[in-house]
Formats: sequence, C-alpha cells, structure tokens
Amino acid sequence: MRGLMQDRPLLISQLLSFAGTYHAEREIVSRTVEGPIHRHTYADMERRSKQLANALKRLGTSAGDCIGTLAWNGYRHLEIWYAVSGSGMVCHTINPRLFPEQIRYIVNHADDRYIFVDLTFVGLMEKLEAEMPGVKGFVIMTDRAHMPQTSLKNVICYEELIAAESADFEWPEFDENTASSLCYTSGTTGNPKGVLYSHRSTVIHSMMANQPDALGLGSRDVVLPVVPMFHANAWSIPYGALMCGAKLVMPGPNMDGASIYELLETEGVTFTAAVPTVWLMLLQYLEREGKTLSALKRVVIGGSAAPRAMIETFQRKYGAQVVHAWGMTETSPLGTLGQLKAGMETMSEDEQITVQCKQGRAIFGIEMKITDDAGKELPRDGKAFGNLKVRGPWVVGSYLKGEGGQVLDAGGWFDTGDVATLDPAGYMQITDRSKDVIKSGGEWISSIDLENAAVGHPGVAEAAVIGIVHPKWDERPLLIIVRKPGSNVGRDEVLDFLKDKIAKWWMPDDVAFVDELPHTATGKLLKTKLREDFRDYKLPTA
Ligand code: ADP
Repeated sequence: MRGLMQDRPLLISQLLSFAGTYHAEREIVSRTVEGPIHRHTYADMERRSKQLANALKRLGTSAGDCIGTLAWNGYRHLEIWYAVSGSGMVCHTINPRLFPEQIRYIVNHADDRYIFVDLTFVGLMEKLEAEMPGVKGFVIMTDRAHMPQTSLKNVICYEELIAAESADFEWPEFDENTASSLCYTSGTTGNPKGVLYSHRSTVIHSMMANQPDALGLGSRDVVLPVVPMFHANAWSIPYGALMCGAKLVMPGPNMDGASIYELLETEGVTFTAAVPTVWLMLLQYLEREGKTLSALKRVVIGGSAAPRAMIETFQRKYGAQVVHAWGMTETSPLGTLGQLKAGMETMSEDEQITVQCKQGRAIFGIEMKITDDAGKELPRDGKAFGNLKVRGPWVVGSYLKGEGGQVLDAGGWFDTGDVATLDPAGYMQITDRSKDVIKSGGEWISSIDLENAAVGHPGVAEAAVIGIVHPKWDERPLLIIVRKPGSNVGRDEVLDFLKDKIAKWWMPDDVAFVDELPHTATGKLLKTKLREDFRDYKLPTA
C-alpha cells in the first residue's frame, strides 16, 4: 500500500524562497574582490537571483545546460548558484587552484556554456579561451565601473546583465533527481572526475548537515564559510544557511589571518569552517597580535586531519568548540562529524580532545564500514584498520560520463580510498589515504598520526611524512618539516619530542627541513609531489 502524503519534489530553489520569505531581512555580508564590504539581504538575493534566471533565459541557455563559475565566496556567486540550479541547469563550480590544463579539461568535459568569472580570474580565462570552444561567453562578476580591459570575446558585465531583467520569475518545478551542480575531484592522479549532485541529494544533505549533532546551524547563527564554494559546495553551508535563516558572511578572496579575524569580530561570527591550513594562518595571527575571539562558538575543521594542538588551542585559549569533520567531494561532502555523545561530558578535557581528534561519527543517512582487501568487514573495535566504505543518498553513484567505470561494489558501497578505524562508540578515525600509508615490514604506519604528533612541537609549523624505500623494511618514514618563523628546531629535538607519543617502531628514520610543503587544489599535502622530490633520498638507516 502506498502512503497518501503529498509528493512534493525537494528543490534547491525552495531554500531561496524560504529564506526570502521567512528571513527576508537577514543579511549577507561579503568582502568583494573590488575591495569594499557589501551588504544585502535574503530578500535582495531572491530578487536578484530571479533577475539572473531571466537573464540566463535571454542568453539562450536551457534546462540541463552546464554553467561554470570561477569565483570566490561572495553574494554574486550565491546568486549564480541559486539562479542556475533553480532554473534546472547545472552549476559547475570550478576550482581555480587546479592547474590551467586541468581547468581547460574540466570546462570542456562538462561542456560549460557560459562561465561566470570573478575579476581575479579574467587573466586565466584569457589564456584558456581559445582551447574552450564550447564556451559561448564570459560574464564578469562586477559592475560597469570595474569592468577590466580584456581580450576575451563575448564578455558580459554581471550587473548590467541582471539590471536589464525583471524580478518576475517563477522557479520551475521538476523531478528532484535532476542534476543541480557539478564539482570535480582534485585529481592528484589522472584527470579530475566529475561528481554530479542532484536537487534531492543536495537538499537532504543540507538538512542533515544543519542538525545539532552535525554543523548545528540555526537562525541566530552568523556563519562564515571560509571553505570555498568551489571546494565541495563549501560543505553545504551556503545551502544550510538559507535553510535556517542564518546570517552569512562571505570572505571573498582574502583568507589570511588578519582578514578572517576582522570578519569574525566585526560581524559577530558564531560559526565558521575551513581546512587546517586556513586555521593555522588564523592562529598564528592571533598569537602574534595577542588577539582574542569574542563571538565565535564553533569551528569546523575538515578536508585534512585536524592536529591535536589546533583543537586544544581553539578550545582552551579562544573558547571556540572544534567540530572535526570528514568528507569528500564524492560524499557531498559531509560523512562524519565529531560532536561528543551523551556521557562524554564527564570525561576529562584531555579525554574529550582525544575523541575530537578522531574524524567523528556518521550522520544519519551515511552508512559506513571498514573492510580488508578481500572485502571482509572488520570489527568496530577502534583498533582494526581497513578500507573505509560508505553508501547513502548523497554519496556518488558514478562519475560524470562514466569516468572511472563502475565505482560501487555489488552491495552499492563506495570505496573512499581512505584507511580508517571505527570504534564501538561509532567514531571513525582516518589513519591514512590508502596510497599514503607506509608499509614497514608488513605492518602499516599511519603518516597522519606521525604528522599530527610532529606539529605538536612548538617550533613546527607544518609536517609531512612519506615512505622512503628501505632495503630491509620495504619502506620507512621520513618526516619533512616546515619550521615556525624564528624557530631553529633540529632533527634530534623533534625525534626526542616524538618518543612518548608514538609506537617505537613508527619513529621516523630521518627528518628533513624545507621552506614550504606542496599542497593540492583543496589544501591537502601533495604527497605525490613530495615522493617525487625525495625519490633519491637516502635514509641514514638504509
Ligand atoms: P575535498 O576536496 O572535499 O577535501 P577530496 O575529495 O579532494 O575532498 O578529498 C577527500 C579526502 O580528504 C578524504 O578522502 C580524506 O582522505 C581527506 N580528508 C577529508 N577530511 C579529512 C579529515 N578530517 N581528516 C583526514 N583526512 C580528511
């Protein structure tokens, strides 16, 4: 027997209608590429998104077309997200940190019709235009006064484009499984692959993301997504904020410590989210300038493992609770979040932080298990580690145009490529990417654990660990360190510091010092490059 409830589709445009109706006066504050801070409201955003939807029609685009964006977090980028998806088209957020040839590849692969470009990226588009024949035009996200001189053909000024249109537009209704947006994986090996989200997956993911045990967003929050909108949908925050009517603060291109601090304080931000490298910059700034944080309540750290020292500093020194999160482009991206469970409030602070160092618990909707290489499920005892597999309504089913072939196993599970433990309380801990794990004498050493232990040293700014070929053990760990400004910490001091923090046989065989570490387009350590750089490195133990 079928249920007798209304069969209303879940559509992204409904989020905007909701915010425009029930939180009309709530602000969106953006640091612009042009410089000044811009303020408008959800009512303004709804009106302007409708004007843009009319403009897109006039440009001759239609349902199913792909529209690219090369833009920072800001109010115009938000309007484009909603106007494009709301009209039944696909919003392709391009990560500008990809190599230019990767950008050319994904624009052509996605078949982008128009690209909306922040002023920052006009030069990049000029270089690539000739190799992107399917792109009919470029909309520069600024007003007439700031339009640049450019060699781009068919250039449109964003503000002029929408000013010519009426705000009279009704969002179309269609099947909730229609594609809404597209994000390519960073592609550290091979070409980037497209993950094509649907209205249904996006809305359900955002509902779950807003839950108290997840991001916990509400109408009284002031939310600053430092994580870019081109990095896995800014972890759903630009959807979740509209879903609950939170004030949104958008950082534009400036993610340095001083700029983020200024927004946190002047706008009274209660909630923010970014990768560890961003927080490293902020914490260094706060320390250097002797500043405190007055309004911030929660900080989400994800994309790479949050070091213990970072969690401790945010909570103990600045009074902001850390929520450690794990996810990937393929999981929309949220999979686990590290909120404490009932009973844990009586633990000592140190014990609580030990729990928070794990990547968190699955949110409802995400099923999760670990298996050995033969696919056999491993125990959830917090000790066994194996391949992390997930499934759920916001997990990828296949990549765009079938790249990579069949990515689910017979049970519908997606192999994340991460190696992890699951403990009896449900907390997952990433021990490594499966390709980064160090295989020493038939046993596995977690590079992430070693890195986290090393950055606990006050003289260490950033650390990476890679396996170096060893005649006896196959591989042994090499610790590569970037010193903090002014520090002259040496090899023996670091190794000595690690002694009581890691198993004896995990001790790195050597320490190398570098000025900076290579990162991927989403801020992760680029280990393929490090392995290349240190290919001929001879360990003293070899
Ligand atoms: P994104 O670009 O959204 O970060 P990617 O798909 O590029 O997503 O990368 C996802 C990978 O990032 C995960 O598979 C995992 O290896 C790593 N990752 C994400 N969050 C964490 C975390 N909190 N701790 C450790 N690794 C993480």
